[in-house]
Amino acid sequence: MTRSLGRARAVSVTLIVVLAITVFAASSALAGHLSDWTHDHSDAGVPPRPSGLAGLNDVFGPRCSDKANNARSWWPHADTDPFGAGKYVFYHTYLARNIGFNVRNHLNAAHRDGALYPGIGGYNCRLIAGSTSWSVHSWGAAIDTNWQRNPRFQTHWNGKGIDGTNYGTYIPDVWRGGFPGHRFFWGLNWDSAPDPMHFQYVTDY
Ligand SMILES: [Zn+2]
Ligand SMILES: [Zn+2]
Repeated sequence: MTRSLGRARAVSVTLIVVLAITVFAASSALAGHLSDWTHDHSDAGVPPRPSGLAGLNDVFGPRCSDKANNARSWWPHADTDPFGAGKYVFYHTYLARNIGFNVRNHLNAAHRDGALYPGIGGYNCRLIAGSTSWSVHSWGAAIDTNWQRNPRFQTHWNGKGIDGTNYGTYIPDVWRGGFPGHRFFWGLNWDSAPDPMHFQYVTDY
């Protein structure tokens, strides 16, 4: 009786020690890397995505406005120079939480900043190249990532990051739909003019 109680106690002490080590290891691995961060997939974090030019204007307002350019987050490797210090990327306030909080922190918390490669950009008041239509970047509703390796008209995604590792479609998977995606439409899906670097918050435009 005493012996089995002693054994039971020894087993539970061992379990507690194992649990404690596991919890400590997990928390120390995350320490300094947004250990208390969790993404926000509420409507504020991932708001409704409009469709067409009318929807774009309805949700984001006029192109090239102050609001289209009034949110930002810091992105490493956003310089044209791969060894630059990084840059702020600007976009519409409607996407402030989805881009600045969700997408940016997903990469950081997962230790995947190495998947980024120059350049990276958001708001840009301009026409679509070779067109008389305004670019979605003019509404601050599109972000380009890794454009040096993923130029317009390239029909695949090059997932090789700044650290030389091939991350596959990790970055597109973060931007677009499905878990842990954030509802951006991927420009690679355009048949006539694929744009693998390009992720936008509107469909059918
Ligand atoms: Zn998320
Ligand atoms: Zn773009």
